Amino acid sequence: MYATNYHRASSVADALRLKGASDEAKYVSGGMTLIPTMKQRLAAPSDLVDLRHIAEMKGITVSGGRVRIGAGTTHAEVAQSAEIKAACPALAHLASLIGDPQVRHMGTIGGSIANNDPAADYPSAMLALAATIVTDRREIAADDFFTGLFETALQDDEIVVAVTFAPPERAGYSKFPNPASRYAMTGVFVAKGPGGVRVGVTGAGANGVFRHAAMEAALTGNFSAQALSGVTTDPSELLSDIHGSAEYRANLVNVMARRAVAAA
Ligand SMILES: Cc1cc2nc3c(=O)[nH]c(=O)nc-3n(C[C@H](O)[C@H](O)[C@H](O)COP(=O)(O)OP(=O)(O)OC[C@H]3O[C@@H](n4cnc5c(N)ncnc54)[C@H](O)[C@@H]3O)c2cc1C
Repeated sequence: MYATNYHRASSVADALRLKGASDEAKYVSGGMTLIPTMKQRLAAPSDLVDLRHIAEMKGITVSGGRVRIGAGTTHAEVAQSAEIKAACPALAHLASLIGDPQVRHMGTIGGSIANNDPAADYPSAMLALAATIVTDRREIAADDFFTGLFETALQDDEIVVAVTFAPPERAGYSKFPNPASRYAMTGVFVAKGPGGVRVGVTGAGANGVFRHAAMEAALTGNFSAQALSGVTTDPSELLSDIHGSAEYRANLVNVMARRAVAAA
């Protein structure tokens, strides 16, 4: 790991100022992705701007028909939150499945969605819940936020401040974890909400997280696991790697989706 300068930001405005002071600075939240990358010398930021202690990026609230989760909220806090368990138990369940206790106590929802790892859990929930990503300068619909492998609509210095969504009527999440990392080999989040049925799939797509239109159509008429039995997933659009072939993942998408609906 190369030497780097550490800065603790006290507010979103302070973080923007600190980041703007150096072209090579990067934000850090839980550091659960960025620090290992720096240790491998795949990233070498001159400065780290720590977002973890910014009060306006912490906490979970439910009011006015919206759930708001501050970007600095850890996976463990989401998993244990009474508000999330009441408004969307499937999201608390998803958070409880991320990595291991250290990752859950350090990693944050903001860091996870800003990183947009193709096998990360949260992006599938953000799509299925039709979440809004609130940044320091605008609001971005989840449908427009995740743009490719490790790619998002964020500008270089843009900060995810919070995510918001309307509590769904029903939702479920099921993932087949990689036995070593616990990342999703395939994970499916299904939600029936104000905007209808939405299905987010992570871990399987060749271009990252995606919505499954055929499953959404099948579940709109009949929200049951049986409704998915005839729905298939085209392997040519899926990831093939040392962990599993595209055909294997195509099967996993269907199995995980049926389990997610049953859980919902
Ligand atoms: C062993 C291990 C197992 C894991 N297993 C899983 C798993 O099963 N499922 C899963 O989903 N994830 C898993 N992860 C990843 C984990 O969830 C990370 O916490 C997450 O990917 C990144 O969150 P972070 O807060 O640590 O971000 P950081 O590592 O601090 O930052 C990640 C990136 O996002 C940027 N960033 C951070 N916060 C913000 C913000 N608020 N606004 C804008 N940009 C920001 C940073 O500049 C950096 O580029 C695992 C990680 C490890 C090490």
